[in-house]
Amino acid sequence: MVPCYRCGTRQGDPEPGKPSPWRRGLVDEHQVLICPACHRAALADLTHCERCGGVHLIRRLDQVECLDCGLTRDAADLPAQVPGQPGSPGEDAGLAAEVARALHRLLGSG
Ligand SMILES: [Zn+2]
Ligand SMILES: [Zn+2]
Repeated sequence: MVPCYRCGTRQGDPEPGKPSPWRRGLVDEHQVLICPACHRAALADLTHCERCGGVHLIRRLDQVECLDCGLTRDAADLPAQVPGQPGSPGEDAGLAAEVARALHRLLGSG
């Protein structure tokens, strides 16, 4: 089971006969689960439907569908912001430090 994208809480077993209070949504084009405690705070992060403004969006492969009004659109291909991966912020700084160390070794050994 996927944890809440904000606080990491994992969804417990749903009570029989009751709809889950957890919600699905889209953040940076990624499907996320939101626990009940994070609903309000998550509204600022969630992608809103262009037509109805709803936040009940689900991602299906390369398409995004609004569960409120049924609007579908192509999902934008945003690069995943994974720390330590190429393209993430901070890579340049790490690379610069690496080069500086290499230069230091070269110059220092001479
Ligand atoms: Zn949460
Ligand atoms: Zn909609």
